[in-house]
Amino acid sequence: MGRIIAIANQKGGVGKTTTAINLSASLAEKGRKVLAIDMDPQGNMSSGLGLDKNSIDGTIYDMIIGEADVEEVIHKNTIENLDILPSNVDLSAVEIEMIDVENKEFVVKNSIQKIRDNYDYVIIDCPPSLSLLTVNAMTTADSVLVPIQCEYYALEGLSQLIHTVELVKDRLNPILEIEGVVFTMYDARTNLSLQVVENVKDNLEQNIYKTIIPRNIRLAEAPSFGTPINQYDPRSAGAESYMRLAEEVISRES
Ligand code: ADP
Ligand code: MG
Repeated sequence: MGRIIAIANQKGGVGKTTTAINLSASLAEKGRKVLAIDMDPQGNMSSGLGLDKNSIDGTIYDMIIGEADVEEVIHKNTIENLDILPSNVDLSAVEIEMIDVENKEFVVKNSIQKIRDNYDYVIIDCPPSLSLLTVNAMTTADSVLVPIQCEYYALEGLSQLIHTVELVKDRLNPILEIEGVVFTMYDARTNLSLQVVENVKDNLEQNIYKTIIPRNIRLAEAPSFGTPINQYDPRSAGAESYMRLAEEVISRES
């Protein structure tokens, strides 16, 4: 059965989408069958994996409002072993449209259940909020992976995030757990990055991935070419770090 991992942190700009894109692509390169689900109306995961978000025919929005079946909105093998369930700005109005929907926290889960067995991993990129979309992602997922940017306010907001995960676990998805936190944008030239890592390690009970993602300009450039880092510059420090993260995720299969 496929493992479903939601990449979440309500802070923007911490590396969620970069991690979602490149973890998905690295797992696919390692021969795993992957479905990447974009649940952010900004659609940056979709475009970063090569789809033109302004002209996509069929997105997760159509699936959520019941206009399309999940199979109809999955874009297959955009990259070898990697399918995409894309989003774009259409998704931004969906929360209001869902107000009267029964069991609205389960809408995404109910669709994904039908196809999860086709995949080894399903990776969900969440929007920068603790909204109904994020709750849907957490209800669908087996675990939550939390990117933490190596900056001064790294831990700000983390307790609300952990609280939300616990609420979802209690009320909606009893198997949900925090997969772990991943440090992103680590800058070896500054003491700050090192201090942040040490501080978080001392203060957080959650699992912390050994792999630390460095600040690497190639990671920031790749999305404008619509390619993940392992295609854009496979020898970059960014590509190597996401490949190691994929290995660590795989090694947790029990
Ligand atoms: P989020 O999805 O949490 O908002 P993003 O993944 O979009 O965050 O990252 C925010 C910005 O930082 C983007 O411009 C992205 O290209 C850049 N970025 C993310 N991770 C790295 C990194 N490790 N090194 C350099 N730039 C990065
Ligand atoms: Mg994002």
